[in-house]
Amino acid sequence: MRSDHGKRRAAAFLDRDGVLNVDHGYTHKPEHLDWIDGAPAAVRLLNEAGYYVFVITNQSGVARGYYKETAVQQFHAHMQDALRAQGAHIDAFYYCPHHPDGTVKELAVRCRCRKPEPGMLEQAAREWPIDPGRSFLIATRTTTWPPPPRSK
Ligand SMILES: [Zn+2]
Repeated sequence: MRSDHGKRRAAAFLDRDGVLNVDHGYTHKPEHLDWIDGAPAAVRLLNEAGYYVFVITNQSGVARGYYKETAVQQFHAHMQDALRAQGAHIDAFYYCPHHPDGTVKELAVRCRCRKPEPGMLEQAAREWPIDPGRSFLIATRTTTWPPPPRSK
């Protein structure tokens, strides 16, 4: 029996606001993309070291009606372009548009993707051959890897 261990790659899960870009509070406009010092170079080093690099970000501003999901996607496309110009790239962006107190009705839910819930990590693990044992996560706060037991 062959193991697929060799094909699996370690993953770096990166929070977005406050880890890659300066958190201006509900940052969503491309012109408000200000990199944290060294962040693009760090992504490039992870790329070169063979890591998958994923962004996982809570974007409750969508549920709150501050901006649309298309704005999140455009911001991520802008980040990707800027990274590519520096020889770096993100393998996939995952975001949670929900918040229980949101004003956009269909997004005002308690979901499984809003960190610290593990939904975005689980989705990435379904979509990519990740080696969880060698993967790690960098967040500003409230997020840990592996996910903590659910407190009730
Ligand atoms: Zn969510």
